Amino acid sequence: MTGRVYLVGAGPGDPDLLTLKAVKALQCAEVVLCDDLVGDEILEHVNPAARIVHVGKRGGCKSTPQAFIERLMVAEALRGNVVVRLKGGDPSIFGRGGEECEALRRAGIEHEVINGITSGLAAATALGIPLTHRALCHGAILVTGHAGEGGKVDWSALAATGFPLVIYMGARHVKEICRELIQGGMASSTPAAAVSNATRDTQRSVLTCLRTLPRDMEAAGIDSPCILIVGEIAALAELPASRNPEVVDRAG
Ligand code: SAH
Repeated sequence: MTGRVYLVGAGPGDPDLLTLKAVKALQCAEVVLCDDLVGDEILEHVNPAARIVHVGKRGGCKSTPQAFIERLMVAEALRGNVVVRLKGGDPSIFGRGGEECEALRRAGIEHEVINGITSGLAAATALGIPLTHRALCHGAILVTGHAGEGGKVDWSALAATGFPLVIYMGARHVKEICRELIQGGMASSTPAAAVSNATRDTQRSVLTCLRTLPRDMEAAGIDSPCILIVGEIAALAELPASRNPEVVDRAG
């Protein structure tokens, strides 16, 4: 009999942010295909009899090609296994959950997506930023800082919306992003925050403004995985209200 696949969001890192549904899926898993952003404390919830396969970049290897992951997922389910495809944050937010569902549909395999808390929202909460505070905005935009082969992000158009931007995968490209937002008409004094490893013991953050974000991130040693939050809302971060960089080290 064909098994089934659960695409499970592991959340941003803190194991207490797993959903009960995610834990239940991990407990009934026979095979777990795990991304590299998922920590060991989360894997403690996996059924001890399950086989865990790391399909991420851990250990300095190149990331396992997406096509290989999809084939493995399908093959394990066709063997009759209950497969959990475990991903950081939410499976469908910059997580290729859509592509994996398509592969499962094509192979006729039953599957279910289980939400996780996406790191953009977790990063905002970690800094006490109420992302859609109605006094300041009517929405927020989740956007990738690295469109890859999918084309180019139109930062001018995003600047023009006036909505706060929650930028994933932006650490490596922060200079260009800030430059293009400013060229697109966003004030260089716009509050901007960066949070790396949100909700983990290694969380670090900086609150500054668009003009100084790249420099301050570098000075604070903030690198990937990192979320950038740009917009007036970022000034509500629970840090001293100055526009000078404030580095907050969660551990100390
Ligand atoms: N599906 C994931 C996103 C995967 S893309 C989610 O919903 O969160 C990978 C990017 O997510 C990273 O480059 C970084 O921008 C972000 N990210 C993931 N975990 C993070 C964390 N704990 N803190 C900050 N950013 C994180």
